Amino acid sequence: MKVNQKENVRALVSLLKEVHSIAVSTGAGISAESGIPTFRGKDGLWKQFRAEELATPNAFMRDPKLVWEWYDWRRGIIGGKSPNPGHFVLAEWEKLYPEFTLITQNIDGLHAKAGSRNILELHGNIWKVRCTQKETVMENFDAPLKEIPPLCPKCGALLRPHVVWFGESLPTEVIHEAFRRAETCEVLFVIGSSTVVQPAASLPFHALEEGAKVVEINLEPTPLTSSANFSFLGKAGEILPMIDKALKE
Ligand code: NAD
Repeated sequence: MKVNQKENVRALVSLLKEVHSIAVSTGAGISAESGIPTFRGKDGLWKQFRAEELATPNAFMRDPKLVWEWYDWRRGIIGGKSPNPGHFVLAEWEKLYPEFTLITQNIDGLHAKAGSRNILELHGNIWKVRCTQKETVMENFDAPLKEIPPLCPKCGALLRPHVVWFGESLPTEVIHEAFRRAETCEVLFVIGSSTVVQPAASLPFHALEEGAKVVEINLEPTPLTSSANFSFLGKAGEILPMIDKALKE
């Protein structure tokens, strides 16, 4: 461990031992070590398409079969994956702190698989589908899907993934609650997020304005790095267990 990283861990741990209220905001990077590609990494491409070309209402209206084929491919990848040590540390911290909120942009369900319970899913969940006519939300764990595009078992209308696409609004109550938690916590972690997708990218800046300390864990610097109180450059699945170990010493 580098000397300044050791000091960084020591300073953070003494803060973590004093506080009662923690919020965590996770992005695709926390699941990268579980083998789920991030959108912006080199493995994020499917056929010749970028996610931004498929995860949109227009793409779905134009070609629901193509968009569902992409989701079927992603569900196939995600379905076989397990949480990594980073997910497990966060699930444990939920039991350790009186106030602990996990806010995630991820749709993969791995936080719940690791045992986290109090989760605000900003972008929905890939294992849920929604009727395009009646808006009914249902769980669907078929991987591969039985039919593409899938149809509503109740009314026969087209189903869509229950996820938030580029250009769509986030569920109002969930995003309000996420901002409320970020603005009232004492420490906010931002883990594996490029901090370019709004509104999640604004959470740490609101937290800082309200006096919280912000801790960032990412492989590389982001637009948040220079404002964060603590920045750890490295893998979430290694840094989180390292902090957790020091916290319990
Ligand atoms: P992103 O793909 O834009 O960025 C991922 C970030 O994680 C990058 O900054 C990268 O440097 C960092 N990273 C990669 N591996 C890491 C590791 N091992 N440890 C720490 N950091 C690591 O992801 P985003 O910021 O979450 O936003 C893009 C959108 O992608 C979100 O809307 C999200 O819903 C969606 N998405 C979700 C999943 C998933 O559910 N697992 C996967 C891909 C994309």
